[in-house]
Amino acid sequence: MKPDLEGYFEEIQEKTKKVYAIAQKAREKGYDPERKVDIPIAKNMAERVIRLVSAVAPQLSEQEVINKIITRIKELEKEYGILDWRVSLKIAEEIAKEKFCRFESKLEAAEAGIRTGFAYHTLGTVASPLEGFTGIKVRKRADGKEYWALFFSGPIRSAGGTGASVCVLIADYVRKKLNVQPYDPTEEEIQRMVTEVHDFHNRITNLQYLPSEEEISFLTRHLPVQIDGDPSEKIEVSQYKDLKRIETNKLRNGVCLVIAECLCQKAPKLWKQLSKWGNDFDLSHWSFLEEFVEIQKKAKAKLKGEEKDEGKEKAKITPDFTFMKDIVAGRPILTMPMRFGGFRLRYGRARNSGYSSAAIHPATMSVLKNYIAIGTQLKLERPGKGAVVAACDTIEGPVVRLKDGTVLQLEKIPDKTLKNEIDKILFLGDILITYGDFLNRSHPLVPVGYCQEWWVQELEKAIVEQFGSLDLFKTSELTGITESRLKEILSNPFYKQPTVDEAITLSLRLSIPLHPKYTYFWKAITKKEFVEFSQAIKRAKTSEEKIIVQFSENVKEIAEKLCIPHKAPAKQYIVFEGAEARTLMTLFENIPDSLDQNQLPEDVIEIINSFSKIKIRDKAGTFIGARMGRPEKAKMRKLTGSPHVLFPIGDEGGKLRSFQSAIEKGKVTAEFAIYKCESCNRITVLPKCEICDKPTKRLYYCQKCGLIPFEQCKHGKASPYTLKQIDIKTLITNITKRIETPLPALVKGVRGTSNKDHIPEHPAKGILRAHHNVTVNKDGTVRYDMTQMGITHFTPREIRTPVEKLRELGYLYDVD
Ligand SMILES: [Zn+2]
Ligand SMILES: [Zn+2]
Repeated sequence: MKPDLEGYFEEIQEKTKKVYAIAQKAREKGYDPERKVDIPIAKNMAERVIRLVSAVAPQLSEQEVINKIITRIKELEKEYGILDWRVSLKIAEEIAKEKFCRFESKLEAAEAGIRTGFAYHTLGTVASPLEGFTGIKVRKRADGKEYWALFFSGPIRSAGGTGASVCVLIADYVRKKLNVQPYDPTEEEIQRMVTEVHDFHNRITNLQYLPSEEEISFLTRHLPVQIDGDPSEKIEVSQYKDLKRIETNKLRNGVCLVIAECLCQKAPKLWKQLSKWGNDFDLSHWSFLEEFVEIQKKAKAKLKGEEKDEGKEKAKITPDFTFMKDIVAGRPILTMPMRFGGFRLRYGRARNSGYSSAAIHPATMSVLKNYIAIGTQLKLERPGKGAVVAACDTIEGPVVRLKDGTVLQLEKIPDKTLKNEIDKILFLGDILITYGDFLNRSHPLVPVGYCQEWWVQELEKAIVEQFGSLDLFKTSELTGITESRLKEILSNPFYKQPTVDEAITLSLRLSIPLHPKYTYFWKAITKKEFVEFSQAIKRAKTSEEKIIVQFSENVKEIAEKLCIPHKAPAKQYIVFEGAEARTLMTLFENIPDSLDQNQLPEDVIEIINSFSKIKIRDKAGTFIGARMGRPEKAKMRKLTGSPHVLFPIGDEGGKLRSFQSAIEKGKVTAEFAIYKCESCNRITVLPKCEICDKPTKRLYYCQKCGLIPFEQCKHGKASPYTLKQIDIKTLITNITKRIETPLPALVKGVRGTSNKDHIPEHPAKGILRAHHNVTVNKDGTVRYDMTQMGITHFTPREIRTPVEKLRELGYLYDVD
């Protein structure tokens, strides 16, 4: 790392420490339910991993323990390599064997170990190790010995298929090391698994990978642990109910995901690793995977064979309607799956888009009346995941028809006058999706329409083939285009596109396809339509740079499908001018005046290429269906009603849940935790007395004794809260006096608190927040969610920040 970059990170760390110190000091004052800052800072990945797990295994939150584990992880990384699965296995085993700290039970130690190994594998960035793997249950084998059932639930999904499979592997490794016996599935349990996975796929949601019956039964028969989980669905499995060692008849999503999308789907990947070092790690019993992978191959081959019998040579790409399921009212479908005129797929990413973030042209946002804006979430047909929207103006903008019949492509945001003239969107423009999203979803890459980045490669290749090297001098002689212009076109394909004459010359001289800017959606029309269009062009009045076609509804419609810019003055003529006229004249030059439809191939591009001197490629590629997902993806996170503070103001708060309204009524009735100030000898609802500012003592409520100073009464466990009426007016008056801030015009609380002890936030916080116009989310934090809206480069002008300020923040380098 560059020394000044190190400085940059140090600065961030320093400043973080500073604000943490302030927060810590504030917490120590005792106005909050907890006296420490809740969210720990992790200095590195290993620490993040352990701190994540420490949320459920508090033994792992001691700094000394953390340091020991981090040191050990580093040693293991040296031995096996960073992020090697064996690091996960070893660290899990050592924590399970209580090498770093003691746990309350062997099982608890094992769970903490498995979670840590799993969290290491997933870099400590997802909650799966806590919420996806929910624990182990010890059950009895037929011979009376114990085996392990691993419990999984829905959030296992976020670990990914391989991640969750590695979790099963880690758990089994720990099992082996602790001498627990393998699972001995019964025939019924195996059949239950087959049935449940298929029921889940058919009745709940499509699994990404649906294993065959044989795959599921073979896998279940050989797995050394039972895969289990709590019920997640309302419906029951269709057969094999009431089994002794499966507690529920209802469908379990965690189980189905782990079996189908994880272990079955990722078996080849698992076997690839285990075949290398499985034996050295005492995991030779996993060698059944070798046979499993064979069974899977056969099952897949059989499936393919069936497809072939139906005459399909290659898996054809067909419209996928999945993204339209569960659509909510008010969230529009922008384009149907694979429909012409929808979003045209472009692969890649801009500096402001990338993983789970797709870019569209700013003019597209504008013609959609800004209903789709930066940060809006879309659900996409392909690769089948959500994406937030970013803007990119070097992809193609939309093609629109105006009220007077004019068709044009927008290269920038239209002004208001033009926008008002828009009658119909013929093409939504490009959508830029990163290759990584396809990889992440294991979606095969689908064909892409002809585009600048492709064309420029073909140009470069053609020059090299012709002259042996990228010889621009000779290319210039051959084409009459200056060397400097050629260089510009080659090095900057998005900003410096060739003129129509340059494009035609380059295509003729170097035999490369026509530039995409002058290529239209020829695939959008049928052979019959092509013949009609061709005849219209042939009969047209052509002059220098203009083609005037007699108006007909049919020809107009065809030109619109093709998305060729044109005018339609007074519905008398259809006029192609400039680049469009030049392009059409060139392409149709050699096409005979009369065409015999029966002699022509079906594909219009093939027809043109069989006559024209210049070849064209398909510009359409693949259109991607899209609908609006959650439009609120990038915005402030607020609770309904936008409260300033999590303090209950009961029904007295009225519709707005405001302190003002409660004060008018003089009281608040709600559930409160109860405290007592011993120096004022009075009861309060705050952990610090609002009169003398001294810490108060927590009380509990017993049904028989009333308020008592301990949780455990002789009558049983006392309640940590009680329904209580408080004098809100006096409380707020005391607080505003103490913080020397008057009560703002509107401070909103909540009807009731939802934490289990009903401990409220301090009203002072709400007064201060209302002053500064901030509202809170579920845990009292203020949040702005725009994960996935990354940016790798920017200019000071774009973010409206002076260079000086940026330098101060640590941005020291300019692109140049
Ligand atoms: Zn007091
Ligand atoms: Zn009692």
